[in-house]
Amino acid sequence: AKADGRGIHRFYRAELLVGAQNRKALEDDLRHALAQNQFHLAYQPVVSTREERIVGYEALIRWEHPTRGAISPAEFIPVAEECGLIETIGEWVMRTACDEAARWPEGVRVAVNVSPIQFANPALPAIVTNALARSGIAPQRLELEITEGVFLDETASSDQMFKSLKAIGVRLALDDFGTGYSSLGYLKKAPFDKIKIDQSFVRGAAIAGNRNAAIIKAIVTLAETLGMETTAEGVELKDELALIRDLGCSHIQGYIYGKPARSEEVEKQLGNGGKA
Ligand code: C2E
Ligand code: CA
Ligand code: CA
Ligand code: CA
Repeated sequence: AKADGRGIHRFYRAELLVGAQNRKALEDDLRHALAQNQFHLAYQPVVSTREERIVGYEALIRWEHPTRGAISPAEFIPVAEECGLIETIGEWVMRTACDEAARWPEGVRVAVNVSPIQFANPALPAIVTNALARSGIAPQRLELEITEGVFLDETASSDQMFKSLKAIGVRLALDDFGTGYSSLGYLKKAPFDKIKIDQSFVRGAAIAGNRNAAIIKAIVTLAETLGMETTAEGVELKDELALIRDLGCSHIQGYIYGKPARSEEVEKQLGNGGKA
């Protein structure tokens, strides 16, 4: 058959149009989601490799849409970032995570994902300070997870933001490490307490001949030299767990230890001493 350039063109246009309509609908629904209490946070345990204890939880936003059901943050966070709603949603996440963590035993940390757009807002330190003050949790219990995206449009203000956040006393983690363009360069620029090794490196690492294990090892060595902790993300299998332990990651997060669950579940889990 002869290739029909216009046909292909029409096909793509129709696809784009449907995409745009879905997106517009999603955006409209997103605007009401906060007021209508459709969001909640789910917490996934972060376990210390050596003692096998839960040291904290990562807060992950969940959206229960009235007709579509659960929508993944991977789908709606980018939309919220583009339409400006991430500021309000992000502030809600920060407050809720601190409030809920205040009901957990002292010393159990909570990690909150911070979008590059929030990071670029000079009001972020005040938002963090406020969330800490109203919840009463110590700054060291709050960890902010920042992706390499914050370095993309680089300004002196990102240096100032890192200083302000460290001055508050919160911990900083570099999320999804290894997926950006210049991951190594970012390490020298900011005072991170932790590197989170992206799950794409963990996936398949335990298979013989796979190069990911060597990469993880190198990241761990680098992090140790710089005095940073490492969390391997997305550990699902026993083989992966054994390998990650051998490679020396200080912390592990993944379905093997627990899926994200509501704060009430976390309180129950911690009731038995936080044994993973
Ligand atoms: P992320 O920050 O890299 O979070 C880790 C993701 O991996 C979560 O997906 C988590 O449920 C998933 N995960 C954890 N363990 C495993 C495992 O063993 N196997 C597999 N296959 N997956 C695992 P989730 O909750 O769907 O979140 C996706 C992304 O959405 C997050 O990636 C983060 O970038 C973003 N996100 C989630 N909550 C928030 C939030 O409150 N604020 C912002 N700005 N972004 C958020
Ligand atoms: Ca994260
Ligand atoms: Ca991550
Ligand atoms: Ca990720």
